[in-house]
Amino acid sequence: MKTCIKCKKPASIELKYNKEWLCEKCFAELFEDRVRKNIRINRLLEKTDKIAVALSGGKDSSVVLHILNYLSNKAPKSRLIAISIDQGIEGYQDEGIAKAKKLCRKLDIEHKIYSFKKEFGCDLDEIIKKSLKFDRTPPACTYCGVLRRKLLNTKARELNVQKIATGHNLDDEVQASMMNYVRGDVERMSRMSAVVGVVRDPSWVPRIKPLRPCPENEVKLYAQIKGIDFAPKRCPYSGEAFRGTIREMIDKLEDSHPGSKFQILKSTDQLVSILRERETQHIEMKRCIVCGEPTSGEKCKYCELCEKLGLKN
Ligand code: SF4
Ligand SMILES: [Zn+2]
Ligand SMILES: [Zn+2]
Repeated sequence: MKTCIKCKKPASIELKYNKEWLCEKCFAELFEDRVRKNIRINRLLEKTDKIAVALSGGKDSSVVLHILNYLSNKAPKSRLIAISIDQGIEGYQDEGIAKAKKLCRKLDIEHKIYSFKKEFGCDLDEIIKKSLKFDRTPPACTYCGVLRRKLLNTKARELNVQKIATGHNLDDEVQASMMNYVRGDVERMSRMSAVVGVVRDPSWVPRIKPLRPCPENEVKLYAQIKGIDFAPKRCPYSGEAFRGTIREMIDKLEDSHPGSKFQILKSTDQLVSILRERETQHIEMKRCIVCGEPTSGEKCKYCELCEKLGLKN
């Protein structure tokens, strides 16, 4: 039988990248330490912040809420709420929203729910159908991302929230980094960070990623150990072909060379700091001619999308 490297009790969890075995208790402590270190080093939180967790009811955002709730209990001047966005994805979203409600009730956290249907007049499934007129393979995640970001930002501002915490984990970040690299999207690469946004504009609520250094399988394991009841289904639109190929490639690399995901994230951060030094000299933000929000072009992505899809703006 394997023994835990920390407490010498029987171990059940192998961390291949560290060549060590841990018991559940020591694993959970290591996981929490990693999140705390990320928060401290990247200055994700202030003691007086009002934070909103973007809560889908899946494992990642549920773990973020669980950990931030624990930390905010130690910082009495901070406040924590949860915001769920119902994009209207049939067969997927109802369970997530139900689990999100349940978790907020259990932790006694204020929970706000907003829907695409009510705010934009159309849910995501309807938007995809509409867009089939001009896109044979509509980029569901792009539409979803632009609209969800806009809605989260607007509502967070109305609620006087200082930061929005999202559930992005190590796998998400490493996949995004490789996708940017393969596409040669240097501008998007330069915006990658534990706090999102190179441009500090008061109208954009910063988004923070407490789970950025945590591998996806470890987030799931932590949720199971802590008895967090999350919705296990993947979004039916998540099978985006390019991301899927990149995910497979990185998972294979991690299998044969454990620790590769951490290394890619480290390299990304080094690259980003060099890119940012150069880019701050020529980034000039304008205001969207329709809604007045900051944008690099004439119109922001949200207004472009509303025009293209005929949504309420
Ligand atoms: S997988 Fe894509 S469509 Fe589904 S919730 Fe995530 S971003 Fe939206
Ligand atoms: Zn142990
Ligand atoms: Zn706009």
